[in-house]
Amino acid sequence: MRDLTQEQENERLAAELRSLNERLEERIEIATKELAERNRLLVWQIQELEKASLLKSEFLARMSHELRTPINAMLGYTSLLRERIYGDLTIEQEKALEKIRAASKHLLTLISEILDLSKIEAGKMPVRLERVRLEQLVAEIGQTLGPLFDDRGLAFRIELSDELPTLRTDPTKLRQVLLNLLENALKYTREGWVALRAYPQEGGRLRIEVEDTGIGIAEEDQELIFEDFRQADQSSDHEYGGTGLGLSISRKLLALLGGTIAVRSEAGKGSVFTVEIPVRSEPGTVDEQARRVLIEGARQEVAEDGHSPAAAEDGFRSPDPTEPGLPRPSAETERT
Ligand code: ADP
Repeated sequence: MRDLTQEQENERLAAELRSLNERLEERIEIATKELAERNRLLVWQIQELEKASLLKSEFLARMSHELRTPINAMLGYTSLLRERIYGDLTIEQEKALEKIRAASKHLLTLISEILDLSKIEAGKMPVRLERVRLEQLVAEIGQTLGPLFDDRGLAFRIELSDELPTLRTDPTKLRQVLLNLLENALKYTREGWVALRAYPQEGGRLRIEVEDTGIGIAEEDQELIFEDFRQADQSSDHEYGGTGLGLSISRKLLALLGGTIAVRSEAGKGSVFTVEIPVRSEPGTVDEQARRVLIEGARQEVAEDGHSPAAAEDGFRSPDPTEPGLPRPSAETERT
C-alpha cells in the first residue's frame, strides 16, 4: 500500500517536473527570439547612426566651405572700403566697417572651431607625430603674439627649462592649444603679465604652464569652461566675445596626444592653465587615446541627446618621425 502511494507521488512529481521543463523551454525560446530581434534592431540602429554621423561630417565640411567663402568676401570688401579704395569715409562709416570686420572674423573663428570639433568627434582628426623642439615652437608663437602683447602693454615672459627634451608629438595640435591659452590670457588680462613656462616632469611627461594676472575664474566655473560652448560668466560674453569652444577643443586635442589640461585660478587675481603631455607619443597609444576621445564624445552626446552616435575610427595617421631635431634658440626671453 505504501509502495503504491510512493509510486503515485513519484509520478505526480515527474509530471510536474516535465511540465515545468516545457514551460521553461517555452520561455527560453521566447526570450531568445526577443534577444535576436533586439540584436537585429541594434545592428540596424548602429548602421543608421554610422550613416548619419558620416552625413553630418560631410555636411559640416561642405557647409563650412560654403560659409567661409561669402565671409571672406565680406572681409575682403570691408578691407577695401577701409583702405579708401572706394572713396573717403566718415568716422561713423569707419566705425561701422570695423564692426562688420570684427563680426565676420568672429564668424570665421566659430566655423573653424565647429569644424574642428566635428572632425574630432567623427574620428577624422589626423594625428601626425613628429620630432618637435618646444623652444622652436614657442619662439614662433612669441613672434606671432608678441606684437599683440606689446599693443596691450602686457609683459610676455617665456621661461623654458634648460633640460627640455625633444618631443615626439603633433606640433600643429600643440601649437593650437598653446595659441588658444595665450590668446585667452591676452583677452582676459587687463594689466600685469602673462608667462609661458615649460619643464620636464617625472614619468616621461612635459609640463607647460600659461599663467596670467587677469580677471581669474570663479571656482564653480573652473570645470565647466572645458565643456563645449561654455563660458565662465555669461554676462561677460559681450564684453570679451569668444565662442566658448577653444578650451574644449584644446582638451580634446590634448587627449588625442595622451595629454591633459587643468586650471588653478582665483577670481580677480589670475589663472594658471597647466598642460601635461607625454614626451613621446607612440602611434599605438595615440590610436588608443583617439578611441577614448571618441567614446567620451559619444558618452557626452548620449547624456545630452539620449541617443548614441556612431564612432568612426578611420583618419588617424601617425607616421614615424623622419625630421632631424631643430636648433635650440635661447632658453629664456622676455618681451614687454
Ligand atoms: P572663449 O574664450 O572663446 O569664450 P574658451 O573655451 O577658450 O572660449 O574659454 C572658455 C571660458 O573660460 C571663457 O569664456 C572665459 O570665461 C574663461 N577663460 C578662459 N581662459 C581664461 C583666462 N585666462 N582668464 C579668465 N577666464 C578665462
